[in-house]
Amino acid sequence: MSAAIISGTEIAGAIREELRERVALLGERDGLVPGLATVLVGDDPASHSYVRMKNRAARAAGIHSRQITLPGSTPEAELLGLLDGLNADPAIHGILVQLPLPDQIRDQVVLDRVLPGKDVDGFHPVNVGRLATGAPDVLAPCTPAGVIQMLLRSGVDPSGRHAVIVGRSNIVGKPMASLLMRKAPGGNATVTVAHSRTPDLGAVTRLGEILIVAIGRPGTVTGEMVRPGATVIDVGTNRVEDATRERGYRITGDVVFDEVREVAGAISPVPGGVGPMTIAMLLSNTVDAAVRLHADGGRD
Ligand code: NDP
Repeated sequence: MSAAIISGTEIAGAIREELRERVALLGERDGLVPGLATVLVGDDPASHSYVRMKNRAARAAGIHSRQITLPGSTPEAELLGLLDGLNADPAIHGILVQLPLPDQIRDQVVLDRVLPGKDVDGFHPVNVGRLATGAPDVLAPCTPAGVIQMLLRSGVDPSGRHAVIVGRSNIVGKPMASLLMRKAPGGNATVTVAHSRTPDLGAVTRLGEILIVAIGRPGTVTGEMVRPGATVIDVGTNRVEDATRERGYRITGDVVFDEVREVAGAISPVPGGVGPMTIAMLLSNTVDAAVRLHADGGRD
């Protein structure tokens, strides 16, 4: 039997609508307008397109959004100075620095400069540490936080289940493991993390009642690597050549969708899966950050 489809587009749409209502209420009740600043350095077309989508989604939710675009030659010190200004700006509650940054700027130095309370990407070491130690109310990285919402909102509670994650990056695999194993709603799973040094990947992935794949290589997970009835979330977002498309490529995941959907109980597609959730969770983090900063009188 063919698996149920977990539509990130639909779930993200519901979350964005809930946020729109929450933002309207915050404005009426507390006079609070959440503010998001996106900082883009250079002219990478993919980064420009991501930032445009994020700003558009923020505005649609009623979030004040400010886009700052700097030339690719911007010195690191100038970017750090800009971040200091945004950290001190009471109208801004969330700061997102679009990666990758040009070579003269060190990513980690920049990520470390964002005030942890405004770090809506969840990449600051303080937030990484808070997530790993199970602190409540943490700003968690958007992609894995979106995966948790996809599971919960499609009736798959990770609690007590065996979740297998393929990929151990700092932006997806590791925070995914932290979220799934924490003692909190959406957590309490038994977690296994696999990566490129895992021998016999299929033997590991077949253990997963929940299988989350974040590799960046199309076609890695085939039908025979999946436990029958498992819930499969494909984070992979890969461009593959496709002469039938006008733009010459199409976007595909890491999972062989047509094969795996015949084995899995539920599966998320690419596109239309995790991608839209990442933006929805960015907005959600921005609203959460605004509420917390407002309650703290602007202190971090
Ligand atoms: P990274 O390249 O940072 O990490 C990839 C991980 O996959 C590594 O841990 C690597 O292992 C592991 N890996 C590579 N090849 C294999 C293999 N053959 N078998 C098992 N494990 C393997 O990628 P990211 O985590 O940043 O991204 C992963 C994918 O998710 C990409 O396609 C990316 O585009 C997508 N993505 C999508 C997002 C969205 O919003 N939808 C957001 C973020 C990412 P090792 O550590 O040993 O090298």
